[in-house]
Amino acid sequence: MSTKYVYYFGGTSSDGRSDMKNLLGGKGANLAEMCNIGLPVPAGFTITTEVCTYFYDNNRQYPETLRAQIEEALKKTEAEMGAIFGDPENPLLVSCRSGARVSMPGMMDTVLNIGLNEQTLKGLIKKTGNERFAWDSYRRFVQMYGDVVLGMKPQTKEDEDPFELLLHKMKKKKGVHLDNELDTDDLKKLVKQFKKAVLERTGKDFPDDPMEQLLEAVGAVFQSWGNDRAVVYRRQYNYPHNWGTAANICSMVFGNMGDDCATGVAFTRDPATGENVFFGDYLINAQGEDVVAGIRTPNKIAELKVAMPEVYQQLDDIRNKLEKHYRDVQDIEFTVQKGKLWMLQTRNGKRTGFAGVRFAVDMVREGLISKEEAISAGRIPPDDLNQLLQPIFDPDAKRKAVEEGRMLAVGINAGPGAATGKIKFYADDAEAYVNSFSRDANGKLPEDAQVVLVRQETSPEDIRGMQVATGILTAFGGASSHAALVSRQMGKVCIVGCGELKIDYKKRTVTAGGKTLKEGDWIAIDGFSGEVMEGKVATKPSEVVQVLISKTMKAEDSQVYQQFAELMSWADDVRKLKVRTNADQPDQAAAAIAFGAEGIGLCRTEHMFFDHILPMREMILSSNTEQRKAALEKLLEFQRSDFAGIFRAMKGKPVTIRTLDPPLHEFLPTLDQKDKQKEVAKMIGVSPKSIEKRIKELHELNPMLGFRGCRLGNVFPEITEMQARAIIEAACDVAKEGIAVDPEIMIPLVGFLPELKAQVKLVHAIAEKVFAEKGTRVKYLVGTMIELPRACVAAAEIATEAEFFSFGTNDLTQTTLGISRDDYGSFIRHYIENDLVKKDPFQVIDFDGVGALMKLGVEKGRSVKPDLKIGICGEHGGEPDSVKFCHRLGLNYVSCSPFRVPIARLAAAQAVLEEKNKK
Ligand code: PEP
Ligand code: MG
Repeated sequence: MSTKYVYYFGGTSSDGRSDMKNLLGGKGANLAEMCNIGLPVPAGFTITTEVCTYFYDNNRQYPETLRAQIEEALKKTEAEMGAIFGDPENPLLVSCRSGARVSMPGMMDTVLNIGLNEQTLKGLIKKTGNERFAWDSYRRFVQMYGDVVLGMKPQTKEDEDPFELLLHKMKKKKGVHLDNELDTDDLKKLVKQFKKAVLERTGKDFPDDPMEQLLEAVGAVFQSWGNDRAVVYRRQYNYPHNWGTAANICSMVFGNMGDDCATGVAFTRDPATGENVFFGDYLINAQGEDVVAGIRTPNKIAELKVAMPEVYQQLDDIRNKLEKHYRDVQDIEFTVQKGKLWMLQTRNGKRTGFAGVRFAVDMVREGLISKEEAISAGRIPPDDLNQLLQPIFDPDAKRKAVEEGRMLAVGINAGPGAATGKIKFYADDAEAYVNSFSRDANGKLPEDAQVVLVRQETSPEDIRGMQVATGILTAFGGASSHAALVSRQMGKVCIVGCGELKIDYKKRTVTAGGKTLKEGDWIAIDGFSGEVMEGKVATKPSEVVQVLISKTMKAEDSQVYQQFAELMSWADDVRKLKVRTNADQPDQAAAAIAFGAEGIGLCRTEHMFFDHILPMREMILSSNTEQRKAALEKLLEFQRSDFAGIFRAMKGKPVTIRTLDPPLHEFLPTLDQKDKQKEVAKMIGVSPKSIEKRIKELHELNPMLGFRGCRLGNVFPEITEMQARAIIEAACDVAKEGIAVDPEIMIPLVGFLPELKAQVKLVHAIAEKVFAEKGTRVKYLVGTMIELPRACVAAAEIATEAEFFSFGTNDLTQTTLGISRDDYGSFIRHYIENDLVKKDPFQVIDFDGVGALMKLGVEKGRSVKPDLKIGICGEHGGEPDSVKFCHRLGLNYVSCSPFRVPIARLAAAQAVLEEKNKK
């Protein structure tokens, strides 16, 4: 039997099911499922994703048997709908819509009204008795087909859509503003002009044969899988390019046949806040794309209750049925044709982090889902928690902005959060502007790089600009417009439908509230309330942060916090990985504990040295051991009190303190900073010349591969001795205060066993001395970082001396890939955009390379010590995919920056569930 490429759906049965998304795409699978559960779906069929991959593999050809299968499915469709494709008397029109296995909103193409030509048009007029409607459908079809299938869509921002141009001219000539103010004759003329434009541009007549139209439209939908915006989208979400899209051929139903018709999109609950209310938009007498494109600002779904009470009731019932069936919030599309409701789509709704958490918690309470389902990655991608930790506008600063008359307008609050940025009107300008700045050591961009993208509406072409923008503000569109959907998913602050904005793209200005702002001016948008303000507005921490960190809000006053806390407790019940934090100061440690950290996985002592730079410089500038010891003596005091502060804050939780790691020259002025050199010389009481000499001695071409890590402690053992003394003394002192301590001393950048052995010996010797002096003992461990490929390979030997391992994946990535962690910015974007690497390897572990070395390190280490405690403290420790990888490797903990702790906790729980589901 030949492969089945075409799956029929219609009536109350269909060939497909909702679990066939890989083959039928999400849309196709759910259309089939909606038929199966008795919802009204216009009949049609899905051409599988396999045809798309065949199409790409075979020089844009279809499999041989496809046409016959299409014809057979068409017959069934015709029978169900009581109309015939291409029939001049009783024509069936169809749409061709893309649909990959995951939803990629607006990234691919659609063609509507396929099957229209001069003959079938007559039939449509006869059938509907509505000549204007029929000509309008034909006008729309020629335009859409011309744009999508015949490639007449503008390619750059300077290009203009030839059809839009003609439409605009016609409206101007007639003195009208809206498309629906044109009469039948105008539309007839437009169709003629459109077809002429097609002939001029393509050299061919507009196709009349319905089957040709259909097959070409399918090809165009497949082609759109490979367009730039779809590729960028897949890259962002890590979806493979070889999945392909399905094409759904669906009988047309019309929301634009008169005032008893409508079309709309809705969510079964509010996708921005998570509130359990029916949420969406509709337009009377319109086609679906009018709602999402944001050209007319639509009505709220609640108003449908008054406009079409029966339809509303039916839709509300469907809302409940769908949520019960899919056990998740649905995003639906519907059309009302002459009072009859049709369902065109359902899928799991995209949601903000706020909504994701609230949906999950509410649905557990409603008994709809289990706690384990509530915390699954499909419902809450861990990074979405970021949104709950993001700043909000400081109410005082906002009040001041209002008093100063800086409130410009209010739009629809589509993506929560507070964003202040410079205005950019075009996505590509925003992208170029933001990319002209470089990030600091923490990956942060300067304040000046913040951009708010201000547009009439956004389209999928704008995705790159949206990615770099801090906030998105549009004049048109509702809460389901492209801007709203995409922003929400990206976690961007977003306001849509802000009709008061008058944007002049040519002059690059936006006017609202009696003020005109230029490109580059500051603007502030409140995605919680929809308010748009001129200038900068100060932000303050989120409710979760206020409850947990600044303690400026009570838990019982914050619903967001309560839901967050409940969800996190479910994650904690499931996860096996412990989550620690990278912190160097007691306040950071305290914040991380409030976020759920279970210890410190990395305390970088050098950060403390920067606070005591003078004795540190004395130590580095010492010309002999005596001098160095004297300087270290001064440092000892500071270090001891710093460590004591951390031990007190951590109250018995493990604290991993790393001995000095960075190259020493980092603590001195640079060679060209003559004034600084003089200043230091004066402060320390040496000659400027001697300073310059030492700087030259310490200069290295590749400092990150040079005199750093345990090499420092081996060449200058007195440094390790001082640090070990400070740690152990602090631990003994705090223990004496009655506070439990759990110090772990960690030696960095070990490659050879003897390097570690020497350092371990030093630490133990000092510890014994301190215990004797203090007359007390504390338990402590000495372990090592694994951050060189050699350490992974020699992990069995190294484990004989190490009491724990901690993967330093920042250095391990740098040394495995031979890519400098400090300057790879010049090429990494090119690498990612050209699929030379999947992700930035300094953000997500390079599983096949660095990950394989980690695996080796774990296996070898535990071959010697089966219970060896192993963690990770590189930046990857807070990145969800990397956290899941660490779980699979069997690590004991991950360690990450304080604000990523909740994300790591959730990712760690999801790792357990994903493992369970695999089994
Ligand atoms: C690492 O290399 O991953 C690490 C945590 O150490 P640092 O970033 O301080 O070099
Ligand atoms: Mg390192």
